[in-house]
Amino acid sequence: MSCIFCRIVAGEIPAEVVAKDEGAVAFLDINPLADGHVVIVPRKHVALVEEMTADDAASLFRTVVRLVGPVRKALAADATTIGVNDGEASGQTIPHVHVHIVPRWKGDGAGTIHTIFPRKTKRTVAEAAAAIRKALGG
Ligand code: 5GP
Ligand code: ZN
Repeated sequence: MSCIFCRIVAGEIPAEVVAKDEGAVAFLDINPLADGHVVIVPRKHVALVEEMTADDAASLFRTVVRLVGPVRKALAADATTIGVNDGEASGQTIPHVHVHIVPRWKGDGAGTIHTIFPRKTKRTVAEAAAAIRKALGG
């Protein structure tokens, strides 16, 4: 088994695990963006969100919901940024789906999801919407 996150799920390599349930395992990121930076992974290996079953995705997000309040309170944070790098081009470095929960504090100097994008759009909003509706079969 070469996937690092599968190996953490299996207990083969150490991690600061904070929660485990039927579908997911949550542990501290080894290179935290902020104190209390948690990653939550599905037990089942799947690389991309689009490859997940609806049930597995629901199970993963249930764990996110269960953890986000306690993580925020444990670190006396004001908010959290919750994110998924989904695919290599987005910056995903470990091809096993994982949700980041990063505690945030007023004035912490970090940006928002909006600040990671240079906003170089090539299509109008309407064109993009039409393309997505078509892909959805609508
Ligand atoms: P990505 O960029 O794929 O969304 O994030 C992967 C995250 O996994 C990174 O934030 C990185 O610090 C973390 N990470 C990589 N290897 C390990 C590891 O062996 N243990 C833990 N706990 N986190 C890891
Ligand atoms: Zn894996």
